[in-house]
Amino acid sequence: MSLKVKNCHSSNISQLKNKATLLYHYYQGQISDKPNILTMGRDSNILFSVLLLGGIADFLFNGYFTRFLKIGGEWYISGWLQLLQLFGHSRVFLFIIATMASLGIPFWTINLFFMSLDLKGKPAFLRKYKIQSDKNIPVDWKLYKKCITVINKNQLIATILVILMYPATQWGGMKYEAEDLPSLPRFFSEMLYFAIVQEIAFYYLHRLMHYPALYKHIHKVHHEWTAPISMAVVYVHPIEHIVVNMIPILLSPVLIGAHISTACIWYMAATFVSTIHHSGYHFPGFPSPQFHDYHHLKFNQCYGVLGWLDRLHNTDSQFRKSLNYKWDSMYFTLKPIWMDG
Ligand SMILES: [Zn+2]
Ligand SMILES: [Zn+2]
Repeated sequence: MSLKVKNCHSSNISQLKNKATLLYHYYQGQISDKPNILTMGRDSNILFSVLLLGGIADFLFNGYFTRFLKIGGEWYISGWLQLLQLFGHSRVFLFIIATMASLGIPFWTINLFFMSLDLKGKPAFLRKYKIQSDKNIPVDWKLYKKCITVINKNQLIATILVILMYPATQWGGMKYEAEDLPSLPRFFSEMLYFAIVQEIAFYYLHRLMHYPALYKHIHKVHHEWTAPISMAVVYVHPIEHIVVNMIPILLSPVLIGAHISTACIWYMAATFVSTIHHSGYHFPGFPSPQFHDYHHLKFNQCYGVLGWLDRLHNTDSQFRKSLNYKWDSMYFTLKPIWMDG
């Protein structure tokens, strides 16, 4: 029996209801295969919001139940103290190194993983997870080299931007000390705030980049990849890298005076998700890249990250009629989601 959500045009809420019904039937023994209920596609936005709004509510009520919880507990606090000692309590040094590391380490770790797959098509058993299966296997070495050159240039620009941002962190009151580590509700509510700011800033700036004059001179570079690879996330014009990629992610923790550790967790999460969104591979247990891959395929669909503003402005209308929409979720079977059912 097919376990996919049948009604691919229904709302996210009805998708979740469908999944709950399938799970009920599974536990009643009426269907044999366990449904994929955990999703990280567009419908995950609801789960994500409920979790984070819960965090905000608790924060507003002065964290009555979770006031004393710190992220990760005692080990996190003692680890943080050791890190502060390592940096000699130098805030400027800690801000620059920690920010660059939390942007760079996830980026290069994921890209080293994809390198052999993109260039050699190995390991071969992972090839079946490629979304646009007839494209970029293997990736032309000349294109790949060009990609690395553009990335190096953009990462240098990002480093300069981070250094220049340090005075803004002082103005915003960024926190560094162990006693200022956030409570769990505060951590979740700040992560929600960062995600909302990024969705709004990225969606409108990205749409602006599709304005013909800006597209021709700036954004066209990024769209050279109609079937993107993980490296292509930073294959952009330098102006686009600063304005569209970096500022929507970097600035919000700085402006609200978040703890540097919260900022770094956000930078790592944003880098991980945006790199996977460009990877071109939809692996089990990984966030779905179908939404942004569709943007590279069609150009005028799916401008955002979470998809909330695309729904609002109806810029996902074609996507929602496509099979990619049906497959746009995290899944936990070894078979690619498009072969399952
Ligand atoms: Zn892209
Ligand atoms: Zn675009």
